[in-house]
Amino acid sequence: MSKKKIVVTGGAGFIGGNFVQYMVDKYPDYDIYNLDLLTYAGDLTKHKQIENNDNYHFIKADISDRETIFSVFEKENFDYVVHFAAESHVDRSITDPEIFIKTNVLGTQILLDAAKHIHVSKFLHVSTDEVYGELDFDPTVFFTEDTPIQPNSPYSASKASSDLLVRAYHETYGLPINITRCSNNYGPYHFPEKLIPLTISRVLNDESVPVYGKGENIRDWLHVYDHCSAIDLVLHKGADGEVYNVGGHNEKTNLEVVKTILGALNKPESLIKFVEDRLGHDKRYAIDPTKLENLGWKPTYNFETGIAQTIQWYLDNKEWWEQIISGEYKEYFEKQYSLK
Ligand code: NAD
Repeated sequence: MSKKKIVVTGGAGFIGGNFVQYMVDKYPDYDIYNLDLLTYAGDLTKHKQIENNDNYHFIKADISDRETIFSVFEKENFDYVVHFAAESHVDRSITDPEIFIKTNVLGTQILLDAAKHIHVSKFLHVSTDEVYGELDFDPTVFFTEDTPIQPNSPYSASKASSDLLVRAYHETYGLPINITRCSNNYGPYHFPEKLIPLTISRVLNDESVPVYGKGENIRDWLHVYDHCSAIDLVLHKGADGEVYNVGGHNEKTNLEVVKTILGALNKPESLIKFVEDRLGHDKRYAIDPTKLENLGWKPTYNFETGIAQTIQWYLDNKEWWEQIISGEYKEYFEKQYSLK
């Protein structure tokens, strides 16, 4: 039997990068293709340990470039597509929405066309709980797969649009698909513009940590390794056409997260700097993962252990994030939070 070929788009980013490593290690009998444009959010240094493995391959390509994507798909004839590639930062989508539409909407449509063209066995679209909009602070209410799609930011609107296209290709053309909608991830190789790595990297340099509004917004945090195992399960066992929510019941306010990190690193709370709230800032996200649990998934990390290991990872891998925050990113950061 020939080896299964899996193309992972966005495999040089945070979650896709962890997923590529997970798959290369777990399935030596699969060929894993990391297809990525290497935007500001992607880098291959994270794959040093696997780059010489026989079952790892890298393809530099833009998912919104139809000709290139079709020629790659025709040449490689993939069995599965696991689609992570996206513009992923809400703040950037508020200042410059256009690239979000190009990559997240048009890029997804081109991948769907290419996947249909070569008759893949599954197209797994990695999405976010943000497509459901926001919840209020009632702790008994969660997003389920039946919650209406009501995105509030340009980012979540672009992801919701791509989700609907994936659904439409299933309904119209019978393309075998799954959609996963996950809560906020944290863990190794998280790009330092996002709350947890931003806080860790700033605090380690004794720099102020910007917190939007009063820091009361609630996010449901999941360790990236638990997200990887969820996607693996849905890829192999997900029922055709189904959506699965992924979350670990770890709700925290942004302020709680920042204070946890300050406490773990023995740094004073005076480093917290409250800044003007994000436009349209969703109050609360919280996932009901029952459907995925019924398929056989269970998260293995609790937040306390996961965050402690993540902080340790950032201490052990300073060269990775220091190189990022010293470049173009520094300018972006100062402008974004009006810190200059
Ligand atoms: P990321 O920004 O860290 O990585 C995105 C990757 O996509 C980068 O490697 C980038 O180079 C690549 N990319 C961007 N545009 C591309 C293009 N045109 N062609 C090819 N590659 C391109 O993102 P992430 O946080 O790892 O998120 C990955 C996916 O998971 C996204 O689809 C996101 O919506 C979804 N998601 C993220 C979270 C989270 O907490 N980060 C939660 C739920 C879902």
